[in-house]
Amino acid sequence: MRASLRRIQPARLPTWGVRYCSTAPKAAPEPEARLRFAPSPTGFLHLGGLRTALFNYLLAKKWDGKILLRIEDTDQSRLVPGAVDALRRTFDWAGIEYDEGVGIGGSCGPYVQSERLDLYREHAQKLIDTDNAYECFCTPDELAAIRLSLAKRGRLGYDGRCRHLSRDDVRARKEAGHPYTIRFKSKQEKETLPDDLVFGPAQPNVTGTGADDFIMMKTDGWPTYHLASVVDDHHMRISHVLRGEEWLPSVTKHHQLYRAFGWSPPAFAHLPLLVNADGTKLSKRTGDVHVEQYAEKGYEPEAMLNFLALLGWDYHGARRHGNEVGVTKTKDGKELDEVFSLSELVDAFDIGGITHRRAAVSMSKLDYINKMTLRRKATAPGAGEEGHAALVARFHAGLRAEPSLAASALVEDEAYVERVFDMELERITRLNEMPGASAFYFLDPDYYTDGPKAMLAKIKRDAYVDAVSAVIKALEGDGELTPEAAWDAIHAAFASLPYKKKDITMSLRHALTGRAQGPTVAEILSVLGRERSLARLRGGLASVE
Ligand code: GLU
Repeated sequence: MRASLRRIQPARLPTWGVRYCSTAPKAAPEPEARLRFAPSPTGFLHLGGLRTALFNYLLAKKWDGKILLRIEDTDQSRLVPGAVDALRRTFDWAGIEYDEGVGIGGSCGPYVQSERLDLYREHAQKLIDTDNAYECFCTPDELAAIRLSLAKRGRLGYDGRCRHLSRDDVRARKEAGHPYTIRFKSKQEKETLPDDLVFGPAQPNVTGTGADDFIMMKTDGWPTYHLASVVDDHHMRISHVLRGEEWLPSVTKHHQLYRAFGWSPPAFAHLPLLVNADGTKLSKRTGDVHVEQYAEKGYEPEAMLNFLALLGWDYHGARRHGNEVGVTKTKDGKELDEVFSLSELVDAFDIGGITHRRAAVSMSKLDYINKMTLRRKATAPGAGEEGHAALVARFHAGLRAEPSLAASALVEDEAYVERVFDMELERITRLNEMPGASAFYFLDPDYYTDGPKAMLAKIKRDAYVDAVSAVIKALEGDGELTPEAAWDAIHAAFASLPYKKKDITMSLRHALTGRAQGPTVAEILSVLGRERSLARLRGGLASVE
């Protein structure tokens, strides 16, 4: 009994529920476009990572295909705990929904490479069995010596010495417990690779050296990126691999792997590097590169995606071909160039428009796009929960959270809050600046603080008293104070008083807000309304008496 039990012990870990997707020969070519974003969970998502995810997403949507999220965690030494959760939070924030992948599943799972190790080991063995790969027992010291001696002859890499070990030798070393890697037998002959969909034939072709027997499996039995990504892209039936330019030199290796397995490769497209305005590589040192920081700073996710879409995509080209894209019109008929909603991006985007020129990241452009995105959202008809009402509600929540406004009952006057929002929207870059910037609508000015005192020092007292008194007189009455009536009151003061317009408006600004800058005086009057305007004008007058 005991002996038979021992005999049925499983020889390897069970893989129930692990499906890896079907790779049975297909009767007809797969019509569906399948793209993937395959980050390594080594920290927060960078701007470049989100740009890659976005381009994959846009093309998947454009082609009615699917986008997968796969986690490439085979380099366990670089893992950062919590990175996958942070990535998914960023995707949620950005509104990038994927069709299959970590957290939501799908028919090709698991979507985390550390859960697919059996599959890579099986495939590495297949390549050994077909003489496309071999075990390498060289120690780190031996490898260092090989590198040194190759370097003296101007060569790189590895000299392939373990290619020649006999099967018996390999078996004996394995039985003796020697650590080993599995290397791919690189082909000697130069080959012509299919064109990169972005870089064309201009991609580096590193075949032909014969020294590039790259490692597919490490001594710890984990695969390297090259093997894992090729095996997964094949088993997940990926049709297009879109990734950063830094992976361009790996394409030759990947094509060799596809050929050795007898698989047809996906199409490759590499996205140009993002650089700083001065052309240097975008890095943590030179700016904020983590997407989460932009979310925290209050940028609109749509603006971030719009901004990233323009990094490496020649939308002007799309327009030259008669496509009316990227032009949103405001209420007053102004054209907002380069401002897209996500669905407009899907319509306008095209793989042919991706350029291989390096894309310079300009934060002032992000600010411009954020500003324009807010305007678009506030005026877009039928925008529902994303539109005007939603923005006003966010502004309102910000006012309630603003410590300096805790004592202002006006914060609860919804109609007033909306008037302030409509007035201030054009003046801000991010919505979270608005509560602080519009506090003066909710708090009467304190004329005895530095700002108002400095303003007053530049205005002649007579001008102040006459101007403010004249406008008080013109506004007395009842009914709603329209912007036209406010203008009439100011123009009447300009016409009847012997002072410069500037002195008159500065006096009014001082009395109404205590601030030298802001919307026009007429606009301020119409937002404050008749009673509040009169009260503040009288308060200003009292402050100079
Ligand atoms: N794991 C790689 C990265 O984080 C992905 C490369 C690829 O998309 O093939 O950049």
